[in-house]
Amino acid sequence: MKNYNKINRVLVTGGAGFLGSHLTDKLLARGDEVVCVDNLFTGSKRNIEHLLKNPRFEFVRHDVTFPLYIEVDQIYNLACPASPVHYQYDPVQTTKTSVHGAINMLGLAKRIGARILQASTSEVYGDPSVHPQTEDYWGNVNPIGIRSCYDEGKRCAETLFFDYHRQHALEIKVMRIFNTYGPRMHPNDGRVVSNFIVQALQGEDITIFGDGQQTRSFCYVDDLITGMVSFMDSPADFVGPVNIGNPSEFTMLELASMVLQLVGGKSQLVFRPLPSDDPRQRQPDISLAKTKLAWQPTVSLENGLKKTISYFDVLLGSR
Ligand code: NAD
Ligand code: UDP
Ligand code: UDP
Repeated sequence: MKNYNKINRVLVTGGAGFLGSHLTDKLLARGDEVVCVDNLFTGSKRNIEHLLKNPRFEFVRHDVTFPLYIEVDQIYNLACPASPVHYQYDPVQTTKTSVHGAINMLGLAKRIGARILQASTSEVYGDPSVHPQTEDYWGNVNPIGIRSCYDEGKRCAETLFFDYHRQHALEIKVMRIFNTYGPRMHPNDGRVVSNFIVQALQGEDITIFGDGQQTRSFCYVDDLITGMVSFMDSPADFVGPVNIGNPSEFTMLELASMVLQLVGGKSQLVFRPLPSDDPRQRQPDISLAKTKLAWQPTVSLENGLKKTISYFDVLLGSR
């Protein structure tokens, strides 16, 4: 019989990264024990330094492309660089992280009978021809382009999760995360929200790639983490994939003007070439998450940007 008084032991791979550190905070706050495994490629000890004295927290410097032997009840597999600048820096390692990392974490979950959640991505839809994206859309992904190491790596990881589920009866959860932002993003991360905020705070030009008419739908980190934890704790027969994100859709020009309005200052917009295979539009259909998890985002882009701007303001000592 399940012992409900027992402490939940959780492994978070990528736990020193942006999302992983917020997830770790939430799990520790509710009384779980957390082992954070990270190779610090894009993550930072700064994101977890406030936890190092917590007896229920443990940090292990480890690369998930190598086997890991540990005993836990649940595994959140977040290890993987998420920003195009970082995942394209060493694309072979990016695919290895997604694919070998998934195999190792699934092998671990199989051995110890742990439930395992995969941080998948809206990138599995590529440059989507179905809008907004529903989970049954198979996507439009270039297998040989500069984004493929990330997109195809994540698609293969989803395949592995579903095959371990069918073949070995593993309890899996596959979550497709749409663009998420907030405090603890790396200032040089290269993603659009952190780029625009850092540029605006430092009075530099705001770099718009292409004509700025491409769209994204931005989710504040607290909303995303709430959705992630409720998905992990949902009934075993709900395995996903499930979209988690904020359906409010903005062009990059709209985002830039909102950031400029909130930060003030005199940054100018400058236009730079659009990177190849950059998706033209992206918006989650979150009907499934609403129905199955009773989850929906609550933080508007304006309010989320204000919190994120305050974080970068202190970090950069800009004003
Ligand atoms: P991040 O770069 O801040 O975090 C990734 C973490 O994984 C970092 O701490 C990094 O050091 C670690 N890592 C990378 N390779 C590793 C390896 N081989 N072994 C161990 N650790 C490794 O990015 P994030 O935004 O926090 O993303 C976390 C996860 O969520 C990723 O899997 C990403 O693909 C997924 N995701 C994020 C978003 C988003 O908008 N933030 C969107 C879709 C999917
Ligand atoms: N693995 C791991 N920790 C474990 C068990 C397995 O890291 O506790 C890794 C190991 O590298 C293995 C992979 O997970 O190759 C896949 O394990 P599985 O049992 O599915 O297949 P195997 O390759 O062992 O037949
Ligand atoms: N982008 C931009 N300026 C920047 C960084 C990104 O206009 O300084 C654009 C990028 O071309 C893309 C969108 O913003 O169309 C979102 O980019 P990001 O790297 O944040 O995420 P992803 O493309 O993976 O959704």
